[in-house]
Amino acid sequence: MNTQPLHREEPQRILLLMTPATYRGGAFMSAARRLGLEVVIGLDTPPGLTTSQSPVSLPLDFKAPEEAVQRIVSFARARPLQAVLSVDDSAVELASLACAALGLPCNSPAAAEAARDKYLMRQRMAAGGVPCPVFRHFPLTADPAAVARTVSYPCVLKPLRLSGSRGVIRANTPEEFVRAFYRLKRIVLAEGFDEATTGFLVEDFIPGFEVALEGLLTAGHLQVLALFDKPDPLDGPFFEETIYVTPSRLPAAVQEAIRACVERAAASIGLREGPAHAELRINDQGPWMLEIAGRSIGGLCSTILEFGAGMCLEELILRHALGRRLPTLERRPEAAGVMMIPIPRAGLLKGVQGIEEAKQVPLITGVEITAPLNNPLVPLPEGASYLGFIFARGEAPAAVEEALRAAHRCLRFDIRRELPVLNTVLT
Ligand code: ADP
Repeated sequence: MNTQPLHREEPQRILLLMTPATYRGGAFMSAARRLGLEVVIGLDTPPGLTTSQSPVSLPLDFKAPEEAVQRIVSFARARPLQAVLSVDDSAVELASLACAALGLPCNSPAAAEAARDKYLMRQRMAAGGVPCPVFRHFPLTADPAAVARTVSYPCVLKPLRLSGSRGVIRANTPEEFVRAFYRLKRIVLAEGFDEATTGFLVEDFIPGFEVALEGLLTAGHLQVLALFDKPDPLDGPFFEETIYVTPSRLPAAVQEAIRACVERAAASIGLREGPAHAELRINDQGPWMLEIAGRSIGGLCSTILEFGAGMCLEELILRHALGRRLPTLERRPEAAGVMMIPIPRAGLLKGVQGIEEAKQVPLITGVEITAPLNNPLVPLPEGASYLGFIFARGEAPAAVEEALRAAHRCLRFDIRRELPVLNTVLT
């Protein structure tokens, strides 16, 4: 329970934890403004860096959670906080530690950790009887040729603590496994993980149709906010997300089985409060849980979600975190979709043509290129950011999906090969 006294006339104050690279900060900040909240930004600022982020910034090092919690607690002593929230995956564990220290309602730190660590998540889900792929854990120091002889195919290799499909690679043969292993290992080491103490997962590849569920947990009960179909096949070797369309076209009974599966998965890892984003595969054996995270949908995808009389997803999440009344969780009845624009190849983005043409396609409500010009585009499995987003609304999901594809066909990307960096000093 929130034990901090609150004077009626004071605005409620919320700490939003984010990294400078997040896509999600803007949407949460404007929702907080609409709710009249005072926002404090807890910005990930590794030691040695300073920040000039406004409006109010609390620099924190997300890689040193104990110290970060101390800073949050002493900040809250002077300026009490009514909620602490991570806008994306980057600080869900820190948010729950800070809430625990401040006595604010939140998921337990153990649940937040299990939602971030894929091995822990699989262990808890398996123990909770949640249908999920057969999985095995190996150290990064393992001999890949030896491991390759012990796993079954096709399989999926995945890092434990990355997101957005980074480092997730399908292997159909032992040779592919060995190549995938070295690629995954490079990615994980480049992220700063320690080779001696870090592992990776190998899972059976689950064939099927993929969906994503956006939900809100209240005392362990899952309310579905939106169920998205992912109509493009995701068969690997890498798993780049493209189109999300809601409402789902799956039969109602399958949708209910998906909801029940996600609720059970949340319970198995101890997630009870706040946003939940889950990915599942559906085949003739029913739903299979791939992943659940204690956060909302990533990128700019939430733009297409509206509830009741025009409330956005972030406002619902903030209201829930503050224990305020939630008006209605019914989504607007029309279909909506988003395309995370695939990165066609690596290189420097020099220009994008056809944006105006794409915006003119019927049902398209927006086209946003988020990748900055003259910066390298890095495709999966190494890449961590999107080229941009296309948004659409319409009466029927099929028409929305077709509009997204038509708009995408209008776009032409000028991507040049990067010149190799000169290592020698020219005199
Ligand atoms: P991340 O958290 O990095 O997004 P996920 O575990 O959600 O990692 O995997 C990313 C994507 O890889 C999934 O959305 C799915 O398309 C694919 N994938 C992951 N695991 C499996 C699996 N066992 N079988 C089939 N596809 C998988």
